[in-house]
Amino acid sequence: MSKFFKMIILGAPGSGKGTISSRILRDFGLKHLSSGDLLRSQVISKTELGVKAKAFMTAGKLVPDDVMVKLISEELAKITSSSWLLDGFPRTRPQAEALNKHEKGKDDVTGEDLVQREDDKPESIRQRLDLYESSTKPLKDFYEELGILQVFCGTESNEIWPRVHKYLQNHLPALGGPF
Ligand code: AMP
Repeated sequence: MSKFFKMIILGAPGSGKGTISSRILRDFGLKHLSSGDLLRSQVISKTELGVKAKAFMTAGKLVPDDVMVKLISEELAKITSSSWLLDGFPRTRPQAEALNKHEKGKDDVTGEDLVQREDDKPESIRQRLDLYESSTKPLKDFYEELGILQVFCGTESNEIWPRVHKYLQNHLPALGGPF
């Protein structure tokens, strides 16, 4: 089993998962991989992958699984000696299965929260919520069956954060600070 802590954060669009992620990084010093950020930087650099991904992103669709799995696997391969937090990946069952194969036998944890973000158009919020419901939410069952799901419920980040923090402090004693 890996000595590093490997964490996935799941949460509906607008759920405040970005806020929780940034607090986890601030307090626990893991490496952060955001699939959305990685894609946006590929789009800006106009790489082949970026050009392909852009069409899906602007249409509010998910980028195909094979593209995502390749992108994330390559990034994860670069992180050899630290714990990490994956944010925005996996978003579908095939992505989760690919990640699981990649990381077989190691520890993962997921968190979920439910706060709404204000900065988006109603129709794109609806589309992203529908995608979350149909493609990403079922991953909770996938990780529950693997026995590695942690759910953190609440109606705002400040309510959820102490629970996440407490959980991580118990699981990341070496990295947790005096908070
Ligand atoms: P995000 O910043 O996580 O909301 O991602 C922005 C956009 O990138 C999403 O709306 C998708 O089009 C795409 N994207 C990010 N992560 C994934 C993923 N794991 N699978 C497929 N598409 C993704």
